[in-house]
Amino acid sequence: MTHFSLRLADLRSRISTACQEFGRNPEEITLLAVSKRHPAEAIREAVAAGQHYVGENFVQEAIDKMDQTRDLDLIWHFIGHLQSNKTRLVAERFQWVQSVDRARIARRLDAQRPFHAPPLDVCIQVCLESEPGKGGVMPAGLADLATEIAGLDRLRLRGLMAIPPPSDDFEIQRGYFRHLREMRDELVAGGLQLDTLSMGMSADLEAAVAEGATLLRIGTALFGPRPGTGAE
Ligand SMILES: *Cc1c(COP(=O)(O)O)cnc(C)c1O
Repeated sequence: MTHFSLRLADLRSRISTACQEFGRNPEEITLLAVSKRHPAEAIREAVAAGQHYVGENFVQEAIDKMDQTRDLDLIWHFIGHLQSNKTRLVAERFQWVQSVDRARIARRLDAQRPFHAPPLDVCIQVCLESEPGKGGVMPAGLADLATEIAGLDRLRLRGLMAIPPPSDDFEIQRGYFRHLREMRDELVAGGLQLDTLSMGMSADLEAAVAEGATLLRIGTALFGPRPGTGAE
């Protein structure tokens, strides 16, 4: 087995253990392989092991890898901070954007999505910290943003995404994810159809599974440590 398939087997066993413990069905949980800073060959390994969903944080890095993997059948998710001068490339090249956090970005993506492509699948990134700044709409602004995005023809609002502040404490991790789930539930009660809760990374996926994650964004636990600048 390759390193990748060994890590994938470990990861699958973590997920299935968490699913058993918290009464979840593993088939409701999609794995997004977060390949930022790893080369296109790493994505090839992931595909060989059965993965099709790839997450990237940086537009140009992602496009280089897309160009190197044109022969593969992949679904690309943009999960990084999105600047307005990059929205056109994202609207043209990605299938999903998980990090929409303001109306201006949503309107640009809507206007720039090519007419021949299906609507762009979108998650709203929510800020779960008291201090804004790390990306994500503040909870108080979520309902208005969700309503606006749901009204845009070329975007399809799928759900919510968050990156909580790191914590080693399971109950603290779980509390952040519970908050995100409750916000999703409230939007659904208000009439929006949302099927995606993108939460949980290598270090906190069990807590996310416990609170209803449908999409886990996993980098390190699949690809190993990222090359380059140390920890992040
Ligand atoms: C890097 C990143 C991940 C993956 O993080 P790991 O801890 O390596 O699993 C997930 N989501 C986002 C938004 C990221 O930037």
